[in-house]
Amino acid sequence: MVDLIDGRALARHLSDRTAEDVARLRAKGVAPALAVVLVGNDPASQVYVRRKVAECAKVGIRSCEAALPRETSEADLVALIEALNADPSIHGILVQLPLPPTIDATRVLDRIAPEKDVDGFHPVNVGRLSTGTGGLVPCTPLGIMKLLDSIVGDLRGRDVVVIGKSNIVGKPVAMLLLEREATVTVTHIETQNLPDIARRADIIVVAAGSPHLVRGFWVKEGAVVIDVGINRVTDPDGRARIVGDVATHEMGHARAVTPVPGGVGPMTIACLLSNTVAAAERTTRG
Ligand code: NAD
Repeated sequence: MVDLIDGRALARHLSDRTAEDVARLRAKGVAPALAVVLVGNDPASQVYVRRKVAECAKVGIRSCEAALPRETSEADLVALIEALNADPSIHGILVQLPLPPTIDATRVLDRIAPEKDVDGFHPVNVGRLSTGTGGLVPCTPLGIMKLLDSIVGDLRGRDVVVIGKSNIVGKPVAMLLLEREATVTVTHIETQNLPDIARRADIIVVAAGSPHLVRGFWVKEGAVVIDVGINRVTDPDGRARIVGDVATHEMGHARAVTPVPGGVGPMTIACLLSNTVAAAERTTRG
């Protein structure tokens, strides 16, 4: 029987440890703080920001939310980021994406101080990740690695197929897997014979945004499947629900699968909290 991995339980466990770290830092006079910047009124972004702020409160991280109108200029947004960079009481800065089309997201993210870049998107952190030299690591890939630690453990020599090559999931998770001496194949929309490539994997990580892309016959007996996808689908009766990129009902022969929801998603937020604490901790080391 396939094991459905409880990402919520693992995330709670990680957040409990983060809460202990927060308490330790507070005792040293450092109150970890995250600034969350939201531009415009995209309803999904508002939900994400609310959830992040609520999760911060649960572990004792102070959060301050800057909600800016949709017509905010890039210059004004950059000025806010510079002010947050210079504020010693703020340890992490998160700009909720997507930004309105009038603002160049890359230019804005590049202005976040790398040591406060809790999303790990700044080129300095991307470079550190690809050279294995520390830095802040993007939250979803970090959460995936923690899930794999709990399911698989030693990744040396494991054959891993990553489906999707985005900068926020596919590429960084491939780098983290390489650091752990896995054999990594990164695939994407133009990859030929993807089912055949996937079928040889010990571990499949899929972040494609394509509902039920990974079918049962793509997965070898005993493989571990990490489903990153979040897709909104409408059932024939008109009801909307969230599904992943994996046809979970066809995974009876796999060793373990992460469910959607309740798999990678909760780990992403838990890693945002641990990254914020890691950023705060660095300030204590001078
Ligand atoms: P993206 O759109 O930036 O990239 C998708 C990648 O998948 C591309 O490299 C594309 O080539 C590849 N791809 C798309 N369709 C494919 C197909 N049919 N076959 C093979 N490759 C295909 O996506 P992203 O930002 O990495 O997000 C991917 C999915 O993960 C989305 O559903 C997103 O909502 C979800 N996501 C979840 C979390 C989380 O916390 N759980 C975090 C980030 C993204």
